[in-house]
Amino acid sequence: MLIAAGAFWIGKGQAMSASEEELAYLMREGREWVNELRAEHRPGARRLEEKERRALEGFFPEAVLEAARVKQVQEIVNPAFFSVFEESGKPPPIDFSRARAMALRDTVIVVESRANSGSRDWLELLFHELVHCAQFFVLGEEDYYRNYVQGWAAAGERYRGIPIEEQAYSLASRYRAEPDRSFSVEWEVREFFSRQP
Ligand SMILES: [Zn+2]
Repeated sequence: MLIAAGAFWIGKGQAMSASEEELAYLMREGREWVNELRAEHRPGARRLEEKERRALEGFFPEAVLEAARVKQVQEIVNPAFFSVFEESGKPPPIDFSRARAMALRDTVIVVESRANSGSRDWLELLFHELVHCAQFFVLGEEDYYRNYVQGWAAAGERYRGIPIEEQAYSLASRYRAEPDRSFSVEWEVREFFSRQP
């Protein structure tokens, strides 16, 4: 996902840390939520446009670009299971309602009021989300969610410290700096995760 500019404070970042049980809960519920969102949004989502594909083909595996779908949505609402945090007086683990976009395995949803294909940074945003699709493609469902949730916990429950997010931000900014200089996102993902615990 990509949080709206200047609003990336997420989580508590305090000494409190989630238990194993809470992490397992987040992994299970989070995965289920994403699958539901994907089932809701993939129908009616569009393929990449020709110019998007041309811009990104030097970076992503063909399978990722071929499977990718994009849909504009009105809003992203935090999942219902977050109410357990609210009830215990904790902030949501990640505030998805502030996201500009979010990747659902192979389907990218983008909040209409925060970005669209006419936005100056559209390709960079798409790049960020497609890095998540490539991570999912390489890691598989189980490892993707495990990495995301454990990475969140290990980073002091900060969204920006999640390795999966750090990599997406870093590769997208590399693309922004030199959009004509191809590199393999798949190679970067494999290399990056071979070094993760
Ligand atoms: Zn992201």
